[in-house]
Amino acid sequence: MTTHDCSFLEDLSLDGSVTFGESTRETHAEDWGTREGGGVLPDAVVSPESTADVSAVLSAADERGVPVTPYAAGTSLEGNAVPAFAGISMDFTRMDEVLDVRPGDFQVDVEPGIMGSRVDEAVARHGLFFPPLPSSGDISTIGGMIANDASGMGTVTYGEIRDWVLELEAVLADGSVVKAGSKAVKTSSGYNLKDLIVGSEGTLAVVTRATLELAGRPREIRGGRALFPTLTDASDAVTDAVQSGVDVAKIELIDADSATMANAYTGTDLPDRPMVFVEFHANHGIEEEISFCRNVFEAHDVTRFEMAEGDEMDDLWQARRELAYAVESWDADMGALHPGDVTVPISKLSAVIEHAKDLAEEYDLLVPCFGHAGDGNVHYTVLVDLDDPDSRARGKELNRRIVEHAIDLGGTSTGEHGIGQGKRGYLVREHGEESVEAMRSVKRALDPNDTLNPGKIFPETADGERVRADPPAGE
Ligand SMILES: Cc1cc2nc3c(=O)[nH]c(=O)nc-3n(C[C@H](O)[C@H](O)[C@H](O)COP(=O)(O)OP(=O)(O)OC[C@H]3O[C@@H](n4cnc5c(N)ncnc54)[C@H](O)[C@@H]3O)c2cc1C
Repeated sequence: MTTHDCSFLEDLSLDGSVTFGESTRETHAEDWGTREGGGVLPDAVVSPESTADVSAVLSAADERGVPVTPYAAGTSLEGNAVPAFAGISMDFTRMDEVLDVRPGDFQVDVEPGIMGSRVDEAVARHGLFFPPLPSSGDISTIGGMIANDASGMGTVTYGEIRDWVLELEAVLADGSVVKAGSKAVKTSSGYNLKDLIVGSEGTLAVVTRATLELAGRPREIRGGRALFPTLTDASDAVTDAVQSGVDVAKIELIDADSATMANAYTGTDLPDRPMVFVEFHANHGIEEEISFCRNVFEAHDVTRFEMAEGDEMDDLWQARRELAYAVESWDADMGALHPGDVTVPISKLSAVIEHAKDLAEEYDLLVPCFGHAGDGNVHYTVLVDLDDPDSRARGKELNRRIVEHAIDLGGTSTGEHGIGQGKRGYLVREHGEESVEAMRSVKRALDPNDTLNPGKIFPETADGERVRADPPAGE
């Protein structure tokens, strides 16, 4: 494995710290997507405390050909945050301040390492909130969300992270500091660098400050769950609700396998049936919207429709909220091979879920399906016996077929987790070779030495290739 001499870091007078210790490096060789392997041990971990630190480290590393991989809370699911070529892991968890709240403009400035839920806490007293937080909002950071262009349960109504980022301060691979976007809610000025950086997984620039847009808290919030006899009834009900224009802030689906796991984990005695979870936000007229939704669901044979508010609503949502942990703890002998997040046009939602369930039968594996169904986003987990090569191979093949089917239906391999290392093999199928080559040109223009998070996104990096403008002689 390649290692890099990072002793130059000790000569930079940083506000933050540099660590060469084994245990710190080990924790940065792993994120949620690489707990079964796939990450490479960094040579050093830097914890910057200012934009000047980030700039100094990047310019020195870039000069010396040392890779730098940004790392935040490590909750990425595709190996996005772990080094693929060693070098420096740049840990943002110390840059975690709220810098300024401007309630009159519905804006907040934050450092990238702040946890998403802390943004909500900081603006709550102004009657505001940050709507696109992912389900992992209390264990993941704004910088990680921006880099992965995360989205969450509220995306069906409020959009994804990208839609709520107004302005970024970011550092390029050579250490130069750029501003992207503006504090105005709209702009037609120049190339949209801000949207290029959002979703680039730390491969184009490192975010050091973000101006986020906020929304006013709705006066009324109600929600709950609905049970359906079959998966087709449940997924068709979601599609129908979205197509009919039910004004729902969240609409999530879990299949019967997921219901079984959630019931076991939370100790509830609900039937092991497909369920749809909904939440409504309104300043007036919430009852009408709930009754509209109920009518739509009744056309799909809903068997139970329970709505509440406050803590009671939270109780009704428990199975969905804790599902990721329920799946993980379902069977000690089985591990999650792929936490999928394919996303398709809403009219194809049932088709992609049914295909996944058919494949589960064909390959004799358990594949619980759930997710942000209102966006056409299907999360699924392929559970395999990680010690059994045959079980792993079947799981990989099954996953490949789900992803390819979603792409063929006009969808995407990843609605929110990013490409990282796990989805590199689908980039060309999804975008075409010409588009992927255009992406390489952007990467080479902004980061000619491939300093920033090398080994991610591009398919050839799976074979150890780098995306450099001028590869060193002999490579
Ligand atoms: C239980 C669970 C539930 C989840 N639910 C959702 C969900 O609902 N929706 C969703 O979208 N995702 C979800 N995820 C995935 C994950 O939480 C998100 O992608 C999250 O945004 C990652 O944030 P992080 O702070 O953990 O970043 P990390 O995983 O540490 O890093 C993510 C990426 O950002 C880069 N990065 C980090 N900081 C910076 C920076 N300052 N500048 C530039 N690049 C940077 C890293 O290099 C990496 O490529 C879930 C994960 C788990 C474990």
